[in-house]
Amino acid sequence: MGSLVQVQPGELRAATAALFLFNTNHWFKTASASRTLRPLRLNINPSFMQLITVGTVAFDRIETPFGVAEKTVGGAATYISLAASVFLEKMGLVSVVGDDFPEAVMQQLRDRGVGLGGLEVLKGKESFFWAGRYHYDMNTRDTLETRLNVLLELDPKLPEAYRKAPYVMLGNLDPAVQGKVLDQMAERPALVVMDTMNFWMDSAMPKLLEVIARVDILTINDAEARQLSGEHSLVKAAAKILAMGPKYLVVKKGEHGALLFGAGRVFFAPALPLEDVIDPTGAGDTFAGGFIGYLARTQDHSFDNLKRAIIVGSAMASFTCEKFGIERLVEVTREDIDQRIQQFVELVDFDIELVEG
Ligand code: AMP
Repeated sequence: MGSLVQVQPGELRAATAALFLFNTNHWFKTASASRTLRPLRLNINPSFMQLITVGTVAFDRIETPFGVAEKTVGGAATYISLAASVFLEKMGLVSVVGDDFPEAVMQQLRDRGVGLGGLEVLKGKESFFWAGRYHYDMNTRDTLETRLNVLLELDPKLPEAYRKAPYVMLGNLDPAVQGKVLDQMAERPALVVMDTMNFWMDSAMPKLLEVIARVDILTINDAEARQLSGEHSLVKAAAKILAMGPKYLVVKKGEHGALLFGAGRVFFAPALPLEDVIDPTGAGDTFAGGFIGYLARTQDHSFDNLKRAIIVGSAMASFTCEKFGIERLVEVTREDIDQRIQQFVELVDFDIELVEG
């Protein structure tokens, strides 16, 4: 393992790389003055892979009531890795693309510390393609087309350096592939987060349940939580899903925020009301990337820190919605994120006195 350094807030202020984290915690302190926060443990130039992500790297065609993007770069692993790279220095991506995938995007990922040793490029083949159309509410969508293309050939072989990564993000993908990634880890990772969708519940439920039993945190949307559990009430659904194995469940509710269940507790985080939502594609994956990136950075898996990670994930996701594809996410600065987290704190901050008598 690389050097872990205890950093005090005073030192953090001076450390440019840590500016965001200091500010984040500062805000959480001001939002709840009584809460004491542990000093952060930062990885300085880690010699090991901090996070590996498996998922699609794709082309998407996106239709919204307000515009169309004919061919934009997307894919779960793309969004997750870009979002996590705000917090981490050394990540690995496991996926497959055709030789139609732009080298410029691969370079963008490398430049952000995302190693592509686990990304296979298949000559003469086409990358995964997904087409979707959003309804007027921009919260629900129909899948128009899914062309698995190279994904049919994905048989992940983890490079040696990936096998000891303490954090693993299983992005939305065939659960058989997600399972193969876990099988190749040298030891049980410190934290495994998994995302999935109705597509896999419909087509691969037994395998999906096997993988769910092996992860720490599952992130799915409300409709998927209902489908997976057979319960309409999200509280009952959460209880059933937690009994399947994960310690925590995050239920994403699009523009209505996210719920965290686990440890006998529930936490709700809103989504930021945005003036213009251009394209919500990838918001769930960006959320997951921000969430696990923050947890991998802070290395604290307590319920209170998961709450912070949910706010960070929600803030990151709000950026993705502001432009098509990954366009907005790649231009976000730490200052942008700082400001947005402040907006979240203000959004839910209120004083109340109970009425007596
Ligand atoms: P999200 O909006 O966060 O649910 O994720 C959108 C991304 O998921 C898009 O960029 C798609 O390329 C990708 N995607 C769509 N369908 C699938 C699928 N069946 N398996 C894996 N990834 C998918």
